[in-house]
Amino acid sequence: MTQHGLSTTAVHAGSERPNPHHSLTVPVTQTATYTFADTQDLCDFMDARMWGMAKGRTEYGRYGNPTVAAAESKLSALEGAEAALLYSSGMAAITSTILTLVNAGSHIIITDDSYRRTRQFCLNFLKKFNIESTVVPMGDFNALESAIRPETKLIISESPTNPYLRVLDLKHLADIAKAHNIKTLVDATFATPFNLRPLDFGIDLVIHSATKYLGGHNDILAGVVAGSEQLIALLRQQLWMLGGVFDPHSAYLLLRGLKTLGLRVERQNQNGQRIAEFLEGHPKIDRVWYPGLKSHPDHEISKKQMKGFGGVISFEVKGDLAAASKVVDGVRIPIIAPSLGGVETLIEQPALMSYYEMSSEERVAVGIKDNLIRLALGVEDTEDLINDLAQALE
Ligand SMILES: *Cc1c(COP(=O)(O)O)cnc(C)c1O
Repeated sequence: MTQHGLSTTAVHAGSERPNPHHSLTVPVTQTATYTFADTQDLCDFMDARMWGMAKGRTEYGRYGNPTVAAAESKLSALEGAEAALLYSSGMAAITSTILTLVNAGSHIIITDDSYRRTRQFCLNFLKKFNIESTVVPMGDFNALESAIRPETKLIISESPTNPYLRVLDLKHLADIAKAHNIKTLVDATFATPFNLRPLDFGIDLVIHSATKYLGGHNDILAGVVAGSEQLIALLRQQLWMLGGVFDPHSAYLLLRGLKTLGLRVERQNQNGQRIAEFLEGHPKIDRVWYPGLKSHPDHEISKKQMKGFGGVISFEVKGDLAAASKVVDGVRIPIIAPSLGGVETLIEQPALMSYYEMSSEERVAVGIKDNLIRLALGVEDTEDLINDLAQALE
């Protein structure tokens, strides 16, 4: 299916023709275990060592499920990957992948402005295993190169980042990492494969919280990693032990959500661009962060690397925390909630959502301003969203 466009791939890839029972949709195979006709059947299976859904069958639910495998195959096609692996959440995908790729004494480099829990995992949790992590500023390739040590095993980055939508030159990153024999992992949750395919630029593994755009309806938690068959096979072996497997009901919802990924992301790109331009021109706004705006520090690389700039905008209102809260409380369509990428527009103040326990000074030290608002656009009509924001800013 990779020879087709991404929307055709999103609709059709991963589905058999015909599906079991001539079902148009991929059936939900809700089972914890799989059966054998007799002892010979079991021994044939064991002798063939054909474990894993890709080889036809498996023996236990943690080792594979056909509904999950169909979703993996669709995601792999969308990323232009050899293989993909689903996990029970984005964080399960991130932590399991990192644990698989490092050893005691390894060193990790991670770019700043990345997902807070990923940073916490690297900087705090992995320290217990004598694994050190160095945080380097997004886009500072000199800092990145000088952070490399003989024991550096992995470079972790994101594009676009949260909440400032920073975008990294992925080819530059991949070239540096390859020269030092270091694996690269890019969290492209904010982009989706419609806007950015990191593997096309030489990145080893792309990760998504499929909870966001890929699921697209704010009704499942999921994570996915895509890359070469060799790396994914390694991750699959470890997932069978670490255990954060995806479940078939959610896989069905993910398959269903993915069919409209192209339509949704197109609208979200359009909403993002038009609303970012509206906000940038508004007298009550100090600054807008959106990679589709010329004023964004990474606009040039974003234009070269991305097909669209996505549905998340961060902006600073003139005034303090309370002034920003007034805007958040004044809008009628966006709903106050964390997360992003679903059909409903969500709004939040990072200072109150992800960084509530910190003081204002501590937040400023990690780059989170009190007057910052993150708007995660859904697929509503652009004009309705603009009119709503206009009345709230009044
Ligand atoms: C949400 C998110 C995650 C974590 O994913 P979960 O599905 O919530 O576990 C990781 N990275 C980014 C960029 C995210 O937005």
